[in-house]
Amino acid sequence: MAEIEREAMEYDVVIVGAGPAGLSAAIRLKQLDADLQVVVLEKGSEVGAHILSGAVLDPCGLNAVIPDWKEKGAPLNVEVKEDNFYMLGEAGHVRIPNFPMPPLMNNHGNYIVSMGNVCRWMAEQAEEMGVEIFPGMACSELVYGDKGEVKGVVAGEFGKNPDGTPGPAYEPGMELHGKYVFLGEGVRGSLSKEVIAKFGLSDGKEPQKYGVGMKEIWEIDPAKHKEGTVTHTMGWPLGSNAGGGSFIYHLDNNQVYVGFVVHLNYKNPHLFPYMEFQRFKHHPVVAELLKGGKRVAYGARAITEGGWQSMPKLVAPGVALLGCSAGMVNVPRIKGNHNAMLSGKAAAEAAYEAIKAERSGDELAAYETDVRDGAIGKDLKMVRNVKPMWSKWGLTASLALGGLDMWTNNLLGFSFFGTLGHGKNDAEATEEASKHKPIDYPKPDGVLSFDRLTNVSFSMTNHEESQPCHLRLGNEDTPVRVNLPKFAEPAQRYCPAGVYEVVEKDGQPEFVINFQNCVHCKTCDIKDPSQNITWTTPQGGDGPNYPNM
Ligand SMILES: Cc1cc2nc3c(=O)[nH]c(=O)nc-3n(C[C@H](O)[C@H](O)[C@H](O)COP(=O)(O)OP(=O)(O)OC[C@H]3O[C@@H](n4cnc5c(N)ncnc54)[C@H](O)[C@@H]3O)c2cc1C
Repeated sequence: MAEIEREAMEYDVVIVGAGPAGLSAAIRLKQLDADLQVVVLEKGSEVGAHILSGAVLDPCGLNAVIPDWKEKGAPLNVEVKEDNFYMLGEAGHVRIPNFPMPPLMNNHGNYIVSMGNVCRWMAEQAEEMGVEIFPGMACSELVYGDKGEVKGVVAGEFGKNPDGTPGPAYEPGMELHGKYVFLGEGVRGSLSKEVIAKFGLSDGKEPQKYGVGMKEIWEIDPAKHKEGTVTHTMGWPLGSNAGGGSFIYHLDNNQVYVGFVVHLNYKNPHLFPYMEFQRFKHHPVVAELLKGGKRVAYGARAITEGGWQSMPKLVAPGVALLGCSAGMVNVPRIKGNHNAMLSGKAAAEAAYEAIKAERSGDELAAYETDVRDGAIGKDLKMVRNVKPMWSKWGLTASLALGGLDMWTNNLLGFSFFGTLGHGKNDAEATEEASKHKPIDYPKPDGVLSFDRLTNVSFSMTNHEESQPCHLRLGNEDTPVRVNLPKFAEPAQRYCPAGVYEVVEKDGQPEFVINFQNCVHCKTCDIKDPSQNITWTTPQGGDGPNYPNM
């Protein structure tokens, strides 16, 4: 194919992703210097369309970026009033009292929000300050400068044929160049993955770890709705098969976020995270709450869980990784939005100083220092052993030891355990199917539990079918030749959107990718045991269209 010519636009800072990290960076840059040229590019059809947090928001990040958010009408309307933690058995539950929990686990002072709506509101604030925000613009490639530095991105390429050649309505997109490029793509960002590999940013770090989070919004019987109530559960149905747990957050308007996270380091390839979630809703505690209600939305997204020891180096020439592109989730709190915002602010401050000093295209070392030595580092360091303890010793031991570790870190500033490693990455953790028993999941009843494709229709996902499949296989035959006999091809189960199927064609198994269903969770890119699937950006505007997730 002939070299594609593209127009280029010049900015001071180019920001990929209108999540809390990217938008905080844009706002902070404009606060520091209203004349800076700042652009934010977002692959969702609108800001918020691809945002899927629980979410209980710790407002410390927003306080730092927009201290007068209350006066400005930010959609933080539901303060947490009640915090419950249950250990579930198959039919019963035990409430864990709040007093042994370290203070950092307390949700009082936090807000139950639609993070999609918070991002929509932040985008309005940014635009009022002069930030250019382009939704529907997927950044598909990085642009490198003469010295190998990242100098921009390609965004807005549309209209390719399924084989990748330009179609009749082909638009090549633009190059957007910046003195600095910020990657705020969230978990397992495709450009971030390239930058991390190219510049060796994860060298010497522990592997990044992940979970897959699935979430439904329910409208429930007003008599059962308790605005401001936060409930977390562990135990059933996962038991010893996998780490993870649920969250149930009562927001306003009789709505409840019901979500379930499965740690992706599970060994048994027969495990079916989506069906674990569906089964969970039949627990008496949950079923009673949801009975008579209706599910109004569904979505899924991976979540970073590696924490402090997995965070890559954050900067390379011309580029910085923000928020969950670098994995800034505090795992026991299931919170990353506050750190995403703080990281955006810190990156903006470092870039502002650099640009003022007429620098460009170099490493923003001040950003790295701010994250590691500041509030984000403190937040992540304190809980760094919880995830490895859970992976190594299981739920019960990790609750006791992890709790102790968080207390000693909190009160004394040290850990008896030092810093524990994670060991294998999540793909390597998958064991051969022959070592494990298949799991028998009850059929969804269509009332409390739903089949995957019905639920995907509640994510309003859409992909133009005539484009190349954005889920790229390294080797076309690996799914059937390797993954099927060895791992019972787990893509059929780990994908929460039913993208992957093994069907029979002419008496032979065939691997099918229904990329139109993809909700951009990135689980396949993470969990495929052969690491043969690469998630790339489809054309802009495609993917889910979450309402108020
Ligand atoms: C199920 C679940 C529950 C969670 N619950 C909570 C919670 O209760 N509280 C909390 O604080 N945190 C929670 N988190 C974590 C939180 O979602 C993340 O920490 C947070 O979203 C990170 O923000 P971010 O800006 O880095 O990335 P994101 O919020 O993921 O935003 C990234 C944006 O970049 C866009 N993008 C990505 N790649 C490209 C590209 N190449 N081109 C253009 N645009 C692109 C995406 O579409 C998206 O809009 C939860 C996560 C999950 C999965």
